[in-house]
Amino acid sequence: MKVIQELIRPSIQKLKPYSSARDEYQGSEGVFLDANENPFGELNRYPDPYQKKLKSKLSEIKSVSPESIFIGNGSDEVIDLAFRIFCEPGKDKALTFSPTYGMYDVSAAINNVDLIEVPLNSDFQIDFDLTKPFLSDPLIKLIFICSPNNPTGNSINGIEEILKSFNGIVIIDEAYIDFSERESYLNKLTDFPNLIISQTFSKARGLAAARLGIAYANPELISWFNKVKPPYNVSDLNQNAALEALNRNEETIRQITLIKTQKEFIISELKRLDLVKRIFPSDANFILVEVSDADLVYNYLTSNKVVVRNRNSVVKNCLRITIGTEDENKKLLEALKNYSI
Ligand code: PMP
Repeated sequence: MKVIQELIRPSIQKLKPYSSARDEYQGSEGVFLDANENPFGELNRYPDPYQKKLKSKLSEIKSVSPESIFIGNGSDEVIDLAFRIFCEPGKDKALTFSPTYGMYDVSAAINNVDLIEVPLNSDFQIDFDLTKPFLSDPLIKLIFICSPNNPTGNSINGIEEILKSFNGIVIIDEAYIDFSERESYLNKLTDFPNLIISQTFSKARGLAAARLGIAYANPELISWFNKVKPPYNVSDLNQNAALEALNRNEETIRQITLIKTQKEFIISELKRLDLVKRIFPSDANFILVEVSDADLVYNYLTSNKVVVRNRNSVVKNCLRITIGTEDENKKLLEALKNYSI
């Protein structure tokens, strides 16, 4: 493992970060004439740039220090910032395992970074023979591992092997971890200084509209995210929405249980349909389903106002189906039972 400083792009190392008015004065009491705000109104003041209340609550729940937490405008912001911090455009590279979440590729392209996509094997697991030669490539600065993986739904095995043998940064994207029986890698943070775990309020916490993502890592890594982020990247409305969501933990747990029960119900019903060829194991709130002809089934469902994700271009003849409410799932199943093209 390299020292972290060596993994930071030279221009970022030299960066003198923007210092906001609220960086310089920490108190909440006072006459605030420092940030050119309108003195009237409810949302007239800039939000806390470091989301201290939210981090303190998350720190309690997750048993991670507040200095090890970064909050982003969705975990998509975490992904983008990671490219900007670690990968020199036009020179450095990143690596991921495909099929996987599409934003790694888009974010890499936006940042002019070459993303190597190593295909997962037929069980959608890492092929270590294919992967090993890349782990010693000094130009690869970043590895993204999505677990549970989108769109396949399974958890990825052998992540520690990558963490132990790769010199750069490993980001484990745990957007769907709350639906999984497996433990988060959060308790490995102290073992691996090169590990970043990304989670989100968009899935189990039910706040996709708010845009709130989280990165957990050692404080030195988190300090680089804080330097590069836009000063007020998480609004007051969102910080409060997140705090409220964390206070509704029991309701969230109930919803997760309902979603899991519905997932088992949908799987058992889908198995009875001729058009369904295969249902892949899922630790997430969606399932990847191979059907007779994904384009036809997708168009048929859309014409019946049931919208699923057609992943035919990524995994042949596969649809990714999100688990909805009992009523929504019934509509999906009803439509599929009437399918007769
Ligand atoms: N990671 C994965 C694996 C996802 O599937 C998604 C959303 N589809 C995200 C990250 C982005 O989440 P957010 O809403 O926090 O930006």
